[in-house]
Amino acid sequence: MKSFNPPVRTLMGPGPSDVHPRILEALSRPTIGHLDPAFIQLMDEVKELLQYAFQTKNALTMPVSAPGSAGMETCFVNLVEPGDKVVVCQNGVFGGRMKENVERCGGIAIMVEDAWGEAIDIAKLEAALKANPDASIVAMVHAETSTGAQSDVAALVKLAHAYDCLTIVDAVTSLGGTPIKVDEWEIDAIYSGSQKCLSCTPGLSPLSFNERALDKVRNRKTKVQSWFLDLNLVMGYWGTGAKRAYHHTAPINALYSLHESLLMLKEEGLENAWARHHKNHLALKAGLEAMGLSCSVKEGDRLPQLNAVTIPEGIEDAVVRGRLLTEYNLEIGAGLGALAGKVWRIGLMGHSSRAENILLCVGALESVLGDMGADIKLGVALPAMQKLLAESEK
Ligand SMILES: *Cc1c(COP(=O)(O)O)cnc(C)c1O
Repeated sequence: MKSFNPPVRTLMGPGPSDVHPRILEALSRPTIGHLDPAFIQLMDEVKELLQYAFQTKNALTMPVSAPGSAGMETCFVNLVEPGDKVVVCQNGVFGGRMKENVERCGGIAIMVEDAWGEAIDIAKLEAALKANPDASIVAMVHAETSTGAQSDVAALVKLAHAYDCLTIVDAVTSLGGTPIKVDEWEIDAIYSGSQKCLSCTPGLSPLSFNERALDKVRNRKTKVQSWFLDLNLVMGYWGTGAKRAYHHTAPINALYSLHESLLMLKEEGLENAWARHHKNHLALKAGLEAMGLSCSVKEGDRLPQLNAVTIPEGIEDAVVRGRLLTEYNLEIGAGLGALAGKVWRIGLMGHSSRAENILLCVGALESVLGDMGADIKLGVALPAMQKLLAESEK
């Protein structure tokens, strides 16, 4: 055995995204103690940078020391008590996981289902809330990475509040890529992930709870069943003030990298990052459509950072993805569940969302699909993208 040296890939799947060298370099800085005053200062800065990214003043804003799934679980285990009725909007894979979380907390999940690839239907949520006046929480996914559809979280949260429900929002793929305004939209509990539009290394889950959500946590009748994710305990370490108590050993170096990625987002400016994701999505779409491929999600509901593309008739999904990986060192995502074999998922997240990646991806797809005899137009994608790419910032 020898040291592991990964191949250098271009990551254009559903995450992880390309990690900027600045972030990788931050990760390799010397490890210090998790209660070192210098580290406490870094924690405070991470919190402040996360408040900016989430657009919130929530005091409880911190990264959970585990991937996005743990952020999801933190929201559910802290907010759902046995017997609680939770309305879960499902339009893809992640809503299904929310249902699992509710049930494992002893709650009752009321499912509001929409077709995969469509946005959450607000009228269906309203019908469910009317039919279940005792529901106390509504959970939803903002950016369904499994399908490439985006839902109107601001409107859904407003509706949930009109029925006196707390809201849990999955922003794993949206944070840093499309607008999320926690305070303005009055989202009660939200979680994200480090490895999507923040372009950080995987393994951390930014999270934010407002006072309404915290009240529910503080006034629970039962103990949170997870010791590790119990926010009452975690806040002894991630809370405010100089007095911090050991809860678990923070992933010190991973937090250096999160700090760097959030700093880069701040330097770019949130609005600029959103605009970059949008412009690059338009360029990718122009190239794919010129070639004769089409986006599977309807216009208006499309996520700029995760593009679901219909696989042409007669083309085998895995062969194309395999060739992109071996011949171009390029990773794109497969369809999941009902969409397996039907779509590719092309991610333009964070540092992956740049002109050179779009050129590589569209060029490589054209070459591989052409070679496989797919019914596409050759030689037109690049000209179709050129003007848009010249406008897109690097
Ligand atoms: C990736 C993702 C998750 C899970 O995050 P992990 O870091 O893989 O645990 C949850 N929700 C959505 C919408 C995601 O895209």
